[in-house]
Amino acid sequence: MGLIEDDAYQVTLHEKYVKGSLTNLTPEALRQAVSPDFPKVLNIEPTSACNLKCRWCPREKSGRADAFFPWELYERVIAELREQERLIMINFHKDGEPLLHDRLVDMVALAKKWNVSELTHLNTNALRLTPDLSSALVDSGLDDITVSIDASHPETFAKFKGADALERVERNVLNLLERRAAKNALNPYVRVKIIKFDGLRDGEVDDFLAKWTGKADFVQVAGMHTWSKSVQFHSTSLESRRRYPCPIPWHSLVVCANGDVTSCTGDWKVENNYGSLITDTLAGLWRSRKAREHRRRHLEGGIVPGSVCHDCSFWVPSGDMTDFLTTKRDMYAE
Ligand code: SF4
Repeated sequence: MGLIEDDAYQVTLHEKYVKGSLTNLTPEALRQAVSPDFPKVLNIEPTSACNLKCRWCPREKSGRADAFFPWELYERVIAELREQERLIMINFHKDGEPLLHDRLVDMVALAKKWNVSELTHLNTNALRLTPDLSSALVDSGLDDITVSIDASHPETFAKFKGADALERVERNVLNLLERRAAKNALNPYVRVKIIKFDGLRDGEVDDFLAKWTGKADFVQVAGMHTWSKSVQFHSTSLESRRRYPCPIPWHSLVVCANGDVTSCTGDWKVENNYGSLITDTLAGLWRSRKAREHRRRHLEGGIVPGSVCHDCSFWVPSGDMTDFLTTKRDMYAE
């Protein structure tokens, strides 16, 4: 989510999203979109493997094995999506680095071919964004790409992201912009992102803004969240004094690289596991007993201390939608 309060550094990912958020629909969009039959936002995790070791990422602590989304399963996902109303958003990321999947470009191209979503988006560290891959991504029709660069000084990058690779990443992003221009293409919209965390040097955010303003389409300064307190960083994300239900399980599903399905990208341990897409369908898991139970826990204040939902902050930006969510009884009834 990474939402911070300074509006100047935020841009709307989609008109139906809360500004600056990668996960939250606006209250108006939520009211229109929520359906007991199918989610409106889908994340596909191309892989749970990664080629960096960001200090604020709980990926390795999760105990999840590295997996790569099987192509046959992906084709089944697209076939099911073609039977449904268009999604608002399909994101090609969860915990791993999407560019490590050899068929990522084919995945995006197939989603675009069948027009299964209003927007396609992915979040990457760009370490593997070679000129050829950049070219192929432009051709795939990908709408939007967020590059987590997170530093403007090589030392900061090496210290907090585990590789001395800032210059390579910067070159890769510039290459992508050049390829797009050479093809006279408008997409993907390229946003570069830095997280505001305690380890940045004095002036590093300003240096980042100076480096990228006028080059990337948008320079995003994001807040630090702590993955449900699983990492020891000071959170700069929005917080709320009052707990209210997280609306994300009412509009989103996330399919992990091994086929497990959960509610959200915040669920780094896949604790809210609704079941496996290997043996079920998206529609079936959306209506499943586990999904309904999970929503019910949020509505009835039954979130267990220590659970991923208990210590999460992703639920804050959409505001308190309790009255509306309560009307969707068939989505949480026993
Ligand atoms: S509160 Fe729970 S369901 Fe909502 S985003 Fe956080 S982990 Fe996901």
